[in-house]
Amino acid sequence: MSVIPQAVVNAEDSDPAFAGLSITLLEWVTTRSDIATTITVEGYFYNVDFGERVRPRIHKVGKNGKCTCYLGKLCPAVDEVKGYLETGGARAPEPPSGYYPMLPACCPICGAGVQTDTSLSSPKRGVGWQCTKGGSLHYWQRMTQALQAAQAQSPWVIAPVLDQAGRVIYAGVHRDDITTDANNPYAFKDGYNPYR
Ligand SMILES: [Zn+2]
Ligand SMILES: [Zn+2]
Repeated sequence: MSVIPQAVVNAEDSDPAFAGLSITLLEWVTTRSDIATTITVEGYFYNVDFGERVRPRIHKVGKNGKCTCYLGKLCPAVDEVKGYLETGGARAPEPPSGYYPMLPACCPICGAGVQTDTSLSSPKRGVGWQCTKGGSLHYWQRMTQALQAAQAQSPWVIAPVLDQAGRVIYAGVHRDDITTDANNPYAFKDGYNPYR
């Protein structure tokens, strides 16, 4: 049985957009055995449908254990997802390393709390965040880890292209082909190279 968060009880006073929520969610919590909650996986989220009697009816819960509604981790939908997973419900897919469709539950570098930093958000990296202890440094450390892992998986900067018979049409660019400071043949005309 969920503990009814105070925020639910006060929702009607604080936000007219959620008028009726306190009654219907309260009803739902006390009579939950009568109401079937439907949970489906949608993208990286769990879609929780409380049925017609509850407003807002649809809630989206992330893998970070928070609902996208204003109740966040206090939303009863979070408990519903926990129960659903405990009884063998299908899990939402893991997002690609370094992509955050939602804030992480805590900093992946040091375990401290995180807060949204929209200046770090991007379509490729998702929701930007900062660590409450390490700031944006811990965000970029995580992104560097993700880049290194991706590079370790594929040595190709641009993958080679083969035709249907397996002949090479385009040789691709291997990461060893990329000029770095250490292998730059033009850096010192007299043959001196501090890296060798
Ligand atoms: Zn919610
Ligand atoms: Zn941190």
